[in-house]
Amino acid sequence: MITCTGCGRKNPDDARCCEGCGRKLQSGRFGAPQESGGTRPLERFSSGSMSDAARSELWRMVEAWGYVAVVLAALGACLYTGRLWPLYPAVAVVALLLWLRKI
Ligand SMILES: [Zn+2]
Repeated sequence: MITCTGCGRKNPDDARCCEGCGRKLQSGRFGAPQESGGTRPLERFSSGSMSDAARSELWRMVEAWGYVAVVLAALGACLYTGRLWPLYPAVAVVALLLWLRKI
């Protein structure tokens, strides 16, 4: 027995088209339910891991630009006050953070 995916009518196993609506029927036992059931979890898994990777990549970009902003702020403060020596430890700390985070 083949159940039509269009109208739900039950058709004989040897029927090629639905007797109710004329839609082409999936042949044999390897019909639509098994096929879609096999591909859907895989698609969901791959799309989920893709978005996770994109999100972590975006977060790393935000973090890297945050460090750049800190360096620029320190540079601006040093230029404003006319003292450059506090800039060096700030740059060193940011460079260490970048190295630790492998950005
Ligand atoms: Zn039908």
